[in-house]
Amino acid sequence: MSFWPWYGLRGGQQTESWEASVPAGASPGRPVAAARQDADQFSMICPTQALRAQAGRVEVEMDHCVHCQRCRQGADPLPWQEDAAWSHWRDTHAQPFPARFRRSLHVLYVDAGACGACVNEIRLVDAPVYNLHRFGIFITATPRDADVLLVSGPITDAMHRAVVKAYAAMPEPKRVLGMGVCAINGGVFGKSFASHGGLEGVIPVDLWIPGCPPPPLAIIEGLRRLMGWTNGPAEREVR
Ligand code: SF4
Ligand code: SF4
Repeated sequence: MSFWPWYGLRGGQQTESWEASVPAGASPGRPVAAARQDADQFSMICPTQALRAQAGRVEVEMDHCVHCQRCRQGADPLPWQEDAAWSHWRDTHAQPFPARFRRSLHVLYVDAGACGACVNEIRLVDAPVYNLHRFGIFITATPRDADVLLVSGPITDAMHRAVVKAYAAMPEPKRVLGMGVCAINGGVFGKSFASHGGLEGVIPVDLWIPGCPPPPLAIIEGLRRLMGWTNGPAEREVR
């Protein structure tokens, strides 16, 4: 007999909660803006210019943060926040799916040259702890069945054509979700002889999830945002 029924009955529900606050340790956290007297000097510790000094504050541009943790160390670090709401719309024209998609969504994931960490997080969203299926979201292997194209990596030359062809093969309506700082702007790889440096200019993007890599709960939050579940007026801000 399999151990799993026994384990499930003994342990009860193990799935991470969603609507409630994010359980401690489920998110690596992210730096948040703060007022500082040493804003000019402090912002210079960031290797990717994700920190910017402005009017006595340190502002954070998550689209450039590679989670190196430098701003989290030392005697006077920047505050960090553990949450799952990391995604933001590409521009003001980007829209969630029509309401009929709120209980069913199929996602095609394409690794366009990711380092492996983004791929690992994607593997986890489908695992029992994060339980993507409870929201009616499923990973599909074919663009013909896909509503969402989820892409990570800096779009290497080897994968450029595959990304374009996968997008073209998807039925309307479709949405594109760029995952990780590499998909946004190339991240630590940047633009090079072998990499396009992100999805911009390759296919139209609707939503970005920053992070390096974004954790499973942030990926799920992005997908739910595309479904129209988390899309209040305050959340329509485009960074
Ligand atoms: S974690 Fe690193 S990359 Fe991100 S804002 Fe802090 S110093 Fe910059
Ligand atoms: S965003 Fe970070 S974790 Fe994801 S592929 Fe790029 S380097 Fe790897």
